[in-house]
Amino acid sequence: MLDAPLMDPFQRAITYLRVSVTDRCDFRCVYCMSEHMTFLPKRDLLTLEELDRMCSAFIRLGVKKLRITGGEPLVRRDILTLFRAMTRHLERGALKELTVTTNGSQLARFADDLVDAGVRRVNVSLDTLDEEKFARVTRWGRLPQVLNGIDAAQNAGLRVKINTVALKGFNEDELFRLAEWCASRDMDLTFIEVMPMGDLGGEDRVGQYWSLKDLRHRLEEHYTLVDLAHRTGGPARYVRLAETGQQVGFITPLTHNFCESCNRVRLTCTGELYMCLGQEDMADLRAPLRASESDGPLEDAIRDAIGRKPKGHDFDYSRQRADGQVSRHMSHTGG
Ligand code: SAM
Ligand code: SF4
Repeated sequence: MLDAPLMDPFQRAITYLRVSVTDRCDFRCVYCMSEHMTFLPKRDLLTLEELDRMCSAFIRLGVKKLRITGGEPLVRRDILTLFRAMTRHLERGALKELTVTTNGSQLARFADDLVDAGVRRVNVSLDTLDEEKFARVTRWGRLPQVLNGIDAAQNAGLRVKINTVALKGFNEDELFRLAEWCASRDMDLTFIEVMPMGDLGGEDRVGQYWSLKDLRHRLEEHYTLVDLAHRTGGPARYVRLAETGQQVGFITPLTHNFCESCNRVRLTCTGELYMCLGQEDMADLRAPLRASESDGPLEDAIRDAIGRKPKGHDFDYSRQRADGQVSRHMSHTGG
């Protein structure tokens, strides 16, 4: 029984862990952070050794896919140590995939080392191809640096997927340019609906929201969209653009709810396990981790937490309010 894989109360096997390794970032995207964020004191963060222990415990309990995220994961000092520590799980086949979600700013520096550690795919977040708009949406980011990072990643042999947050009045006019740019570089593209997470100091949520239903209709005016059956257990649905062969994903936590196939949980950089991105309930795994050199108490705490995974989230903008809003920033839980 002890070796039974993690199963939640709704018979969903939990095989995917996303780990936020830092809440810090070198950008300040308008939908993600306020300009003057207060970050956690360093002592509250799990050390790299503790992150290794956490991830390894989840892998022992059946996690097959690990995504390193943040904040910006590649700005955490010595983060390659964690990637290299995970290589052993890839090599013995316990872990099937090690991936990272990044804003791309540090990819030029890290791409080769990530490949050496066993990473094969990266998700790069990019909302616009216009330099001035990029500086506006990320506040601190510079587009050429990210484009260099993407070049470096592809040159190193990494498969790159672009994640774009659909923002009303911001990147609506770049839909086809983004799709064509990705197709020309053989990169898949996923659009994300903006989610009501964290207090942004007056940013207007409902005003930022561009429904992917509408975005999809716009794509259909130019391309033939072929629905793809495959799903990742996440909230994404995929199509292929018949004209370019490119895969396009839609992450629609608001207009659709795909919670029934959810296979994932999220660990924050302080060791809190969130069983659902859109709910407040969490389990503190740092205390059992630090309480004992044995991983027994930690594994018990993980099983207990998975036993509380809720059926789904309650995000809803339909009443012109950001209902179901959660107070955490995305950078805290990890996107
Ligand atoms: N810094 C990395 C990056 O930007 O890719 C990783 C962390 S970031 C929090 C992960 C993803 O969350 C990014 O693709 C970002 O666009 C997305 N994101 C952040 N805040 C969001 C929000 N309020 N709604 C929807 N997506 C959001
Ligand atoms: Fe940083 Fe990513 Fe949040 Fe932008 S979305 S502020 S890059 S953590």
